[in-house]
Amino acid sequence: VTADPSDLADRLDRARAATAAAGIDALLISPGPDLAYLTGYDAKPLERLTCLVLPADGDPRLVAPGLEEPAALASPVATLGIEVVPWQETDDPYALTGSLLPPGVATIGLDNHMWAEKVLAFRAALPGARQVLANQVIAPLRMRKSQVEVGHLREAGRAIDRVHARMGEWLRPGRTEREVGRDIADAIIAEGHVQVDFVIVGSGPNGASPHHDLSDRVIGAGEPVVVDIGGTTAAGYCSDCTRNYVAGAAAPDEYVDYFAVLAAAQRAQRDYARPGVSAESVDRTGRAIIAEAGLGEAFLHRTGHGIGLETHEEPYIVEGNSLLLEPGMAFSIEPGIYLPGRHGARIEDIVVVTDDGVEVLNSTSRGLVHLH
Ligand code: ZN
Ligand code: ZN
Repeated sequence: VTADPSDLADRLDRARAATAAAGIDALLISPGPDLAYLTGYDAKPLERLTCLVLPADGDPRLVAPGLEEPAALASPVATLGIEVVPWQETDDPYALTGSLLPPGVATIGLDNHMWAEKVLAFRAALPGARQVLANQVIAPLRMRKSQVEVGHLREAGRAIDRVHARMGEWLRPGRTEREVGRDIADAIIAEGHVQVDFVIVGSGPNGASPHHDLSDRVIGAGEPVVVDIGGTTAAGYCSDCTRNYVAGAAAPDEYVDYFAVLAAAQRAQRDYARPGVSAESVDRTGRAIIAEAGLGEAFLHRTGHGIGLETHEEPYIVEGNSLLLEPGMAFSIEPGIYLPGRHGARIEDIVVVTDDGVEVLNSTSRGLVHLH
């Protein structure tokens, strides 16, 4: 994970202020995206406790196993001036962490990604403290991307676009989804990611299952194929883009018809999203178009999810989320139409809210792509 040190110091300050405002005495942040966001330390989630202690009022400290101390000190933790407090194999790291909290601590905010065994160990070590989720403090910060973060997401978008642009090298009738998927995974790395997060190749009826991944099914001529792929870049930011392909013969007429409806819905959502409109109204905008075509039941998931250090994070673009969009929020717009047993389609772009609309971070053709 690379982040500007001044960006990180600013995040810690804002997290502390938001913690105080939420009436929480301290945050306990374990390895995962929140720790990476706050400190730049991409620590491995292990059975041994690593935990950032961030009091609402006081200096942050990092409790870490002695053997992880060099890794912690090699991260931006050291330049941020966060003291590393090591513990040895026979120490009780939960009691140690408790001793670093302000006396009489009443409410602690636990990282949403913290393992249950650690949550329960903290409950036992700090029986007087109420446990709440740190997400209420961290998610609002992570949701509003800085210009540096938007730059990283832009780069991730271009990297996954380069993979989609090469689909004709791999996707053709007679090959299995798994064979195609293996080539795509190699290209995700070759084109600018350090990690493959997921590869979905849904051919024919498998395209009607939104989170199908790969199977040994042989792709047939003229069968629509949903390809949804993503990875993580060296900067720690995620890509996620879905395109639809057909090879060897023309797609069925019925499919071509509903694909046009889907494309119109997705375009309408991109045109509509801007500061001041609610997340749920972006969902409604596309859903209304699909429902009007009599396909409402076939759009069986929310419109999208936030993206950043995680592929799925806040804000979720879903009915019930009245959050008003603000510049810097990044999320997917990915309506789909799925006909079980036949085929399906999804068009997905990552967008970032600007001052008057959205910047779309993916730019390969959103139409049904015919490969030869
Ligand atoms: Zn996706
Ligand atoms: Zn997505």
